Amino acid sequence: MLLAEQRRLLCDHGRRVVETGLVLGTSGNLSVRLGDLVAVTPGGLALDRLDPEACPVVGVGGDLVEGDLSPSSETPMHLAIYAATGTTAVVHTHSTFATVVSATLTELPPVHYNTTLLGGVVQVAGYATYGTAELAANVMTALGDRRAVLLANHGGVTLGDDLPEAFEAARLLEWLCEVYVRARALGEPRTLTEEQLSAVVRRRQAPAFPFSED
Ligand SMILES: [Zn+2]
Repeated sequence: MLLAEQRRLLCDHGRRVVETGLVLGTSGNLSVRLGDLVAVTPGGLALDRLDPEACPVVGVGGDLVEGDLSPSSETPMHLAIYAATGTTAVVHTHSTFATVVSATLTELPPVHYNTTLLGGVVQVAGYATYGTAELAANVMTALGDRRAVLLANHGGVTLGDDLPEAFEAARLLEWLCEVYVRARALGEPRTLTEEQLSAVVRRRQAPAFPFSED
């Protein structure tokens, strides 16, 4: 079986996105790339009930290489991300707070400095019908060099060097969206400036010792 380990990991993380509440039933999809091949979750099946054989393998051009089931309808979006970035895992969910923000704003206001872990201020891609090349193109425009993007009135997408990393990025995106929505309930949240976010990136890159003031 091609990509046996990657397909097993897809099943594991399919269960995890459901167990953590990021996905209800079939409303999300995951993929992982190895070389010119991509293992992706199938369309129309609950992500917590997959076995490796159920996960199709496609070429980076979209041709079905192995598997009896149809790849997820969002496979064109996954492939567009692989074509344009060096990433090797993608997680897409309709998680609640990410969807709330995507339905309301054009970017996720940076109210917590951990948005820098996603590569900066997360943007909302313009709405297009799911599964279309137009949606994939809108996602690529809004993604830039970040590791996360929101899809207007739809959900979120995160990238990683492997599935655990893309999954954790999905959890972080959802948390950041929830923090913003809850803060908004109290008043107008303070957002961090570009300089404050840049300082966080510099701080993270700096060695822990010796402490320096610059
Ligand atoms: Zn979707």
